[in-house]
Amino acid sequence: MTDKYMPTSYESSVAAACERLGYGPTIESLMSLAALELKVEIPVVRDNGELAIFTGYRVQHQNVRGPCKGGLRYHPGVDIREVRELAALMTMKTALADIPLGGGKGGIACNPHEMSQRELEVLTRKFVKRIHREIGPNSDIMAPDVGTNAQTMGWIHSEYSAIYGHSPAAVTGKPLALGGSPGRDKATGHGLGIVVAEYARLHDKPLKGATAVVQGFGNVGFHAAQALISLGVKVIAISDSRSAVHHGEGIDLAALSAQKRARGSLKDTDGHNPVEPDALFEIPCDYLVPAALGNAIHAGNAARLACRTVVEGANTPITAEADLMLRERGVTIIPDILANAGGVIVSYFEWVQNLQRQVWSLEKVDTELELILGNAARGVFAHAAEANLDLRSAAFDIAVRRVKEALDATGF
Ligand code: NAD
Repeated sequence: MTDKYMPTSYESSVAAACERLGYGPTIESLMSLAALELKVEIPVVRDNGELAIFTGYRVQHQNVRGPCKGGLRYHPGVDIREVRELAALMTMKTALADIPLGGGKGGIACNPHEMSQRELEVLTRKFVKRIHREIGPNSDIMAPDVGTNAQTMGWIHSEYSAIYGHSPAAVTGKPLALGGSPGRDKATGHGLGIVVAEYARLHDKPLKGATAVVQGFGNVGFHAAQALISLGVKVIAISDSRSAVHHGEGIDLAALSAQKRARGSLKDTDGHNPVEPDALFEIPCDYLVPAALGNAIHAGNAARLACRTVVEGANTPITAEADLMLRERGVTIIPDILANAGGVIVSYFEWVQNLQRQVWSLEKVDTELELILGNAARGVFAHAAEANLDLRSAAFDIAVRRVKEALDATGF
């Protein structure tokens, strides 16, 4: 076990759940300690001939309910604190979904947008060479996150299989041609739609004509916008890291996608008005979906949010302080460990398919996702109503209880 660390909103949510559930300080500490932390230095010869050294991390938080599971992030801001907190969050997410997996996370501090495909491939393969003894189908299974994609997972699969023999279950979010699952690409955003639909149904709030604003135009932001549009929601604004656009009648996702591909930005897409990215959260809407990076909503902007409900597409997009401010203002928050759990659930399906040498249809993936995520959502909404809790607290109660039950069952 490594030193205790102090994750922000995670730590306060776990501490409060342990108190409500009557668990002592030992259990609370266990929920906050990582089982293993790896830090590796990765030298890469850049295309210009210069040598660059990148720092990579992999944290395994808990494996009592199953192998550690979680994404790999490529971003300049990656550091051990962030990776620790995200690994712990994964333990809660897999427990809340009630799938037999634990929590892990990895990251490399780099800017993938300034690196060539060759450099990224070398970096990824060397990272696997450094950590391969600690990962694998029964210990720790990576997946895409910010700055990584199916191609990155394909390189991991290839490098790991070169050492251990064909091992598709060692990593998820792979290309379909390498044993990836149908529906994994859209899973996180699609799942967000399932959770919002369940929330709206339960609270008798029609989605047709409701409005949404989405921050982020990557895997989660794009597919969340698509899922909401297919539910009849009018997505009136969306952003990427450099631009934001507004369309009162609803954005044209296909046109924005084409513009992003052609120009690398959403700016100047026909029929869409530019918005200052900082003003995005101030646009009145029913659902605000932060789907970019952590801490996007903080004490400095929380008071200006003009939505009724925040749906956390990203992991930890709201600081602990802002969370409190929003709840005091009566803004509902659908927490990350529920709202974006679709990704890890379909990653679980991919792992199962790979272990059993099966290929599921997209229909089967979608049906099973709806079942598991729908159950998780109904469980959170019911517990929140019964215990008079906000949704994050209700979700953490359920997740912490499941991890504790598994620890107890080991004779701990
Ligand atoms: P991605 O790299 O595909 O996309 C990130 C997007 O965020 C990009 O469009 C980028 O331009 C945008 N962005 C960055 N900074 C921004 C800013 N300040 N304002 C607006 N946009 C900004 O990453 P992703 O996979 O979509 O992940 C997004 C979030 O969702 C992360 O918090 C990640 O941990 C979480 N998440 C991802 C998955 C998954 O399956 N990919 C699953 C669960 C949670």
